[in-house]
Formats: sequence, C-alpha cells, structure tokens
Amino acid sequence: MSDGPGYGFDTLQVHAGARPDPTTGARQTPIYQSTAFVFRDADHAAALFNLQEVGFIYSRLTNPTVAVLQERIATLEGGVGAVCCSSGHAAQIMALFPLMGPGRNVVASSRLYGGTITQFSQTIKRFGWSAKFVDFDDLDAVKAAIDDDTRAVFCESIANPGGYITDIPAVAAVADAAGVPLIADNTSATPYLCRPIELGATLVVHSTTKYLTGNGTVTGGAVVDSGRFDWRASDKFPSLSAPEPAYHGMTFAETFGPLAFTFHSIAVGLRDLGMTMNPQGAHYTLMGIETLSLRMQRHVENAVKVASWLENDPRVDFVTYAGLPSSPYHDRIASVCPKGAGGLFTFALKGGYEACVRFVDAVELFSHVANLGDARSLVIHSASTTHRQLTPEQQKAAGAAPNVVRVSIGIEDADDLIADLDQALAKATA
Ligand SMILES: *Cc1c(COP(=O)(O)O)cnc(C)c1O
Repeated sequence: MSDGPGYGFDTLQVHAGARPDPTTGARQTPIYQSTAFVFRDADHAAALFNLQEVGFIYSRLTNPTVAVLQERIATLEGGVGAVCCSSGHAAQIMALFPLMGPGRNVVASSRLYGGTITQFSQTIKRFGWSAKFVDFDDLDAVKAAIDDDTRAVFCESIANPGGYITDIPAVAAVADAAGVPLIADNTSATPYLCRPIELGATLVVHSTTKYLTGNGTVTGGAVVDSGRFDWRASDKFPSLSAPEPAYHGMTFAETFGPLAFTFHSIAVGLRDLGMTMNPQGAHYTLMGIETLSLRMQRHVENAVKVASWLENDPRVDFVTYAGLPSSPYHDRIASVCPKGAGGLFTFALKGGYEACVRFVDAVELFSHVANLGDARSLVIHSASTTHRQLTPEQQKAAGAAPNVVRVSIGIEDADDLIADLDQALAKATA
C-alpha cells in the first residue's frame, strides 16, 4: 500500500504495512515460515549485521510476516515503529528493557491487569528494577513518586478489569515535566477507541492476544514507539543515548533518530531476550485486525446494553462500566476514548464471593475463561483466579474485589447475552 496520507482507520486496518507479494502476487500476506533469509553476498550480510542496511537475517529478530503486523499496529497507533513480541507480558518487559537498569524504578498505576501487578511487584525485582504503585487519579502523588531513579510511568488507557479510564493527557503532562516517558497499555481500548500517542504517551504496549486478534487463537504483544521522546535530553537513558559496545560504539539515538527505540528493541531486545512473535501467530493477528473497528463498535454497543440492564437488576449491587452515565469516569470518555469505553467491565453480586462462584458455574453462552477481547462473551471471577495472588487491598484497588465478576462482552446478539446473564443470576442468587 502507498503510505498516501489521509487514509482512514478502516482502510489502514486492512492495508497498512501490506502489499502484494512481489514474487507470487499473493494478495493476502503470506506466512513466511522460514527461520533464516539468504544473503545476496558477504557484503550484504556484513551490512545487515552492522545495521547499515535494513533486511531480514533470522526470525528471532525480524520476519516478513511479523514485519507487516508491526507496521499495521504502528500505523493504527500513530507511531513511527513497533516491535511484536511473544505475549503482552513480553511486550511490557521489552518496553521497559531499554529504559531501566539495576536500581531504577517505574511509577505504575495501581489499577492494572492483575498479571501486570504481579510482574511489576515481584518478578522485575530479579532484574534489580522496582515499581511504585500510585493512584493515578492523584496527580500530586504521581509527581511525588517520580524520583531520580524513575525511568518510566506506566498506565492502562482503559484499565483491565474495566470501569476505569486513565486521564492520559494529565498523566502525560506529569511524566513530560519530569523528563520520563509515559508507557500506556492500550490492550483494553485498542487504537480504535483510544490513541494514547496523540494524548501524549511515548510508548504504547499491547497484548495482541486480546482485541487486536479478536478470536482467541494466539498470544502476542507489541510495543509501539511514538518517536517523539528526546532520549538525549538527559543522561537517564544510556542504552539509547550512549555508545553501544555490542555495535562498535554506535549510538542508537544518533544513528536512528526517532526510530532509536524501535531499532534497539530489535537489534538488542529481540536479539538477546528472544521474546519473538512467530509468523503463524502474526498471521492470526493480521486476520483479526482487519475487522478491528467493526468488532469494537459492536463490543461497545453490546457492553452499553448489557451494563445498563445489569445496573437495573435488583440482584446486582453495582456495575463499574465507564460507558454508563453513573460512572465517575464517564466524563473522561470524550477526551480519552471518544468512540466508547470498551467491552470490559465488572459488576458486584449481592450474594458476595459465594454467589460469584455459583454465577460463573451457571453461565451457558458466556465462557468461564481467563481471557478477554474475544468475539465470544467471557466471564471470570478475578478474585479467585487472575487476581488470586494479590492481597485483598490490592484486589480492591485493582477493581477485583471478592464480590465482583468481570465480563468481556462479545459481538453476539445483546438479547441472548442478557438472557444468559438473567438465568445465571437466578441460579446464583436462588
Ligand atoms: C492480557 C493482558 C496483558 C498480558 O498479555 P498476555 O498476552 O496475556 O501476556 C497485559 N495487559 C493487559 C491489559 C491485558 O489484558
């Protein structure tokens, strides 16, 4: 596709990054199921290894099928480049890797996907990194948490398990003033609903496992770079601003300019951490991403209908969906995710933990799984599953209290979803 300006989102989600295969004319992006790619000659090989020429060497670093997906996601997010990874969690490590070092910290929102809270509060300590969790509605607290060792600020645009929208422009202003990049996890919103880079984020991370693929087939992740952060403005980011010994003292920020982060993520991150997306996985995500906007419209439409119905049901204590006018975060939709508050939310059952467990056993059309963003409607009781490792205080702060179930509303008929919830609520509260 020509990169002609002016194409709309619906066109870009089908075409960006792809062109007919130059050898066969194949219209759909082929799955380049090849580990290695033949060098033209020894000089070509040397140029590729010196990063003097861009091309394909070995699929741990780059692969033509994965490259199409990278360009597609970067384009939809309004970034200059993207790196795909083996999972959303891999993408988070890949986003932090060029920024962090032993003794450095990330200031993170307390409202995050449960797995991310575990990754940040436990696992990254093994690298000598740490996280400080803060209520991102308290901007003074965010400001106060940023210290000389802070190398990133991290939030989710629409936070999993739903109901919370981060005021990205306000948080970006705080990060900017401190000279550190804002990383926004845009998994639950997708670039159709929210464009974090336009709102001031430096990097966007995705679990492509979810809505971008949209059919529950593969795990994957992506890191998108806005290309707008000046890595040389301070000495905080030596991986990007100082000579790199593994590449003969080349400086990424100098050599690659706005693409410094992306090139570092491939040439050092994927090379040495190896959290690579495979071409078959990229293919499934490319299939899904073609219909992203159509699905997101239906996810939002159905979520509004189902959440409104639940809110008026006497067996339900409360519903936390920012798409409902009763939500304290409803006002943020216009500035952060103008096309809607997503398809993910939680609701509390009056019967507490026991009723929640009976409820997830009683659903028939909804599936009880640890996933979200599928075309199918899904349900999970976070406190007994995904958020099980957290303390009760962390569970509550993350919106996953014991009396709450999370639903990921699919693209089925809303009436059928409501009928299933109705019968399951009857059984759970009998
Ligand atoms: C699922 C999820 C992740 C982790 O992604 P995986 O692909 O499961 O590794 C990270 N952030 C959010 C918001 C998620 O929903």
